[in-house]
Order: sequence, then C-alpha cells, then structure tokens
Amino acid sequence: MISLEIPQITNSESELRNKKQILLVEDEDLIRDMLTVALEEEGYEVISANNGRYALNILQNQELNDNGLKPDLIILDLMLPEVNGLDICRLLRYQGDITPIIVISAKGSETDRVLGLEVGADDYLTKPFSMRELVARCRALLRRQQYISVPQTPIQKYRDISLFPEECRVIVREQEVSLSPKEFKLLELFMSYPRRVWSREQLIEQVWGPDFLGDTKTVDVHIRWLREKLELDPSQPKYLITVRGFGYRFG
Ligand code: CA
Repeated sequence: MISLEIPQITNSESELRNKKQILLVEDEDLIRDMLTVALEEEGYEVISANNGRYALNILQNQELNDNGLKPDLIILDLMLPEVNGLDICRLLRYQGDITPIIVISAKGSETDRVLGLEVGADDYLTKPFSMRELVARCRALLRRQQYISVPQTPIQKYRDISLFPEECRVIVREQEVSLSPKEFKLLELFMSYPRRVWSREQLIEQVWGPDFLGDTKTVDVHIRWLREKLELDPSQPKYLITVRGFGYRFG
C-alpha cells in the first residue's frame, strides 16, 4: 500500500510493471483498509486516497504518472469530502481519461446508479457488497480494458456545429469560426453534455478551474460572445440556452 499523504512507490519497479495499479478512493477507514487487503491479496498494487481532492491530485500529477504511478482502474466512493465521486468521474471523462471506474456507494437507488453510469462510471456496486464480487468485477474490467483500443472522438457534431477537439477547430454552417481558448473549452464542454444544465459556478470550475478569482459574470460575457459566433440570431439562441434561475444548457 502506498502512504496516504505523500504517494511513494514502495515496490520495486519490475514488480510494479507486472502489477496492475488500483486507485481506491474511500473516506471510511475501515472499508478502505478491508478493500486494500482484499485487493493486495489478489496481486494488485493499491494506491489509496481518503478524499476527492487528494485522488485528483494523484490522477493529475504528471510527475507521479511519469514515475510509474498511473492507476489502471479506479474504485470510487461517491460521498467524499472536498470533491465528490460524481464530479471526479465527470471531470476525468471530460478530460478524455478512460481509466475504468467502479463506483461503490451507499446510494443504491436507480437514479443514483443511472447517474453514476451516465457521468462515465463503468460499473456500480451498492454498499454493502461482497469483496469477492468487487474483486471479480475489477478483474473483468481490467480484462476488458486490454482489448479496448482508445476510443477516438475526432468530431463532436450537433446540428450545424462541428467541433474538432484535437484540432481546436469549430465549423458553424460550413464556415470556420475562430474561438478563444476559453470559448472553445466552454463549447466543447457544452457539446459533450447536450441538454445538461450547468450553473455558472460549475462552468467556472470546469473551464476556468477551481482557482479562478473573477466572478461568474465572466461566464455570461463568454456565452454572449459564443452566441454571436454560433447563433443565427444571437437574441433568439437555439444552441446556448439560458435556463432561468439555474444557468445554461446546450441544445
Ligand atoms: Ca463516503
């Protein structure tokens, strides 16, 4: 097991290369310890995190990744301090990270399960569950992962708008439009989740990042600019729709 505060790779490198790494994100010590033991017995390398922000730090730290810390699978609790599991899932998928994710949650209602899968989890287990079942599902997902080639989504298309993520280009009604990086990121996010309603705060968090110090008016300004570039009639938007009292949605 890797220490909680400063992730260090304790196994020798050759051992690590053979072992699959599982990032276990769970704030309840007892469950985390039990899972760690069960997974290590199965021969997995377990990296554990007791809150959401710490998990994101591990996942997004290039230096750690370069040093061999790159989880092959994520076991993710939903109710977590700091950043919750759904947001982690959403963020990773938005960033194009396809690491398999198994959600483990005490929330077992159909809505919760569907939501978990919709934001990009690959599997969902309701607590309490048997260790054997979890281990079996980890194994199945890791096995499946070996055969899946990285899905490419070179074009996101919605009605008259085509967005080419890798080329940072947008074509609207057969004309190329030039967008600023923030406008592009905003549009890419919207197009990834058609009809999803985003609050201004969520958009700030996703596009400008959690450290952004300006106010949410920034979002309104960028939406106005985007409308001028995308909409036939910016005063009667058909793509970027204001949802009164909530924020914005696309389509
Ligand atoms: Ca929890």
